[in-house]
Amino acid sequence: MNDAVVIVGGGHAAGAFAAALRQAGHTGPVTIVGAEPLAPYQRPPLSKAWLKGEASSDDLLLRPESFYAEKSVTLRLSTRVSGIDATARIVTLENGESLAYEQLVIATGSRLRQLDVPGVRSQGVLELRTAADAEAIKARISQGVRMAIVGGGYVGLEVAASARSLGAEVTVIEREPRLLARVASEPLSAFFERRHREQGVQLMLGATVSAFDAQDGRLTGVRLANGRSLACDVAVVGIGALGEDTLAKAAGLTCSDGIVVDEQCRTSDPHIHAIGDCTRRPVPRYGLQQMRLESVPNALEQARQAAADLCGKPAVKSEVPWFWSDQYDVRLQIVGLPVDVAQRVVRGDAAAGKFAVYHLDAQGRLQCVEAVNAPAEFVAARQWAGASMVLDAARIADASIAVKDIPVKAPVA
Ligand SMILES: Cc1cc2nc3c(=O)[nH]c(=O)nc-3n(C[C@H](O)[C@H](O)[C@H](O)COP(=O)(O)OP(=O)(O)OC[C@H]3O[C@@H](n4cnc5c(N)ncnc54)[C@H](O)[C@@H]3O)c2cc1C
Repeated sequence: MNDAVVIVGGGHAAGAFAAALRQAGHTGPVTIVGAEPLAPYQRPPLSKAWLKGEASSDDLLLRPESFYAEKSVTLRLSTRVSGIDATARIVTLENGESLAYEQLVIATGSRLRQLDVPGVRSQGVLELRTAADAEAIKARISQGVRMAIVGGGYVGLEVAASARSLGAEVTVIEREPRLLARVASEPLSAFFERRHREQGVQLMLGATVSAFDAQDGRLTGVRLANGRSLACDVAVVGIGALGEDTLAKAAGLTCSDGIVVDEQCRTSDPHIHAIGDCTRRPVPRYGLQQMRLESVPNALEQARQAAADLCGKPAVKSEVPWFWSDQYDVRLQIVGLPVDVAQRVVRGDAAAGKFAVYHLDAQGRLQCVEAVNAPAEFVAARQWAGASMVLDAARIADASIAVKDIPVKAPVA
């Protein structure tokens, strides 16, 4: 395949795709157009090791910049695509230039949900999506600084853990009655609530932010809908993200909070694929037609799927989705999705910080496992959930049975 390929977006999916495309034998021109000044980099460390000063900027890069030159991949950084003409097969850039393509790959990631309350533009109200955002947050963290984190999801909690370990006074404000309400089971939420409280983080649950207070444009506090308020020096808003499908929608592609794609990452236009956070994709293991996954494993998988499709290689099958989060000394690994869950079994000791929550459907098939400091359970569960293995709840709960010996029945056909 020698077609000119243009990739819109220069993040994790874009970088992985360019490499996969060359590996699959594509020899034509490839151009990555990315709005950020950095070559494709990893976002997970932004809220973890990098924020704590344990990783350098070079550690963030997926590959050294020289890789792209060696592979004849043109990097157009600090360059935003402003439009796609799907009929003429041209993308226009914000600087007025245009680029022709035979095949376009959209990898525009996600955009952060905005909190629409008075004072949100005050100096000191920050958010975290890019390395530049992380830089701004890092610059504000110091011993004793009062930090309010709006949103008790993964990113908010990782920032809380990192800031706390650097000596900040941290309060997490979460609208739902529990942390991680949309993305984790109750036992896991309860575990993280305990862990953050033990580390000195204040948690305000079931609390809605109604305004940010400021003096001379600088943040001084957060006001809640219940009338309470909290003084703070800096706030980080992390209330989730939406698929960045603005360009795709304007170009007439089928979108629904994300660009709708099939298992080969094809969009509704035969010359356009889409990959990563910006897509809404099938997850065949669970019979789901459209789901938005925001994770590195998803970006890597779709990069391989799209590259194989464009190069006429055998289709790359979708794996069971998985994800991780690091907070303090806790490594959480989640595999699968909690779809049609009829029974939940906890294995191990949450109080000791090492346990796993198994989710089974009505037939006893393993749908999902949330593993806390339990890598062996995660590795085994990846295989079992992929194979729709039927497991026995009593054997899961029995810690005297080794993980590998839990299964006793054959996979369901
Ligand atoms: C702080 C943080 C921590 C995370 N931690 C984890 C984790 O622990 N585990 C995990 O699995 N995932 C984690 N994620 C999610 C993971 O980083 C994303 O799923 C992944 O980056 C998706 O890759 P992507 O290429 O689709 O999007 P992105 O990496 O976001 O890249 C999209 C790029 O497209 C650019 N772009 C958008 N529009 C345009 C345009 N019009 N023109 C040009 N460029 C454009 C954007 O500027 C951006 O650089 C984390 C994310 C964040 C922000």
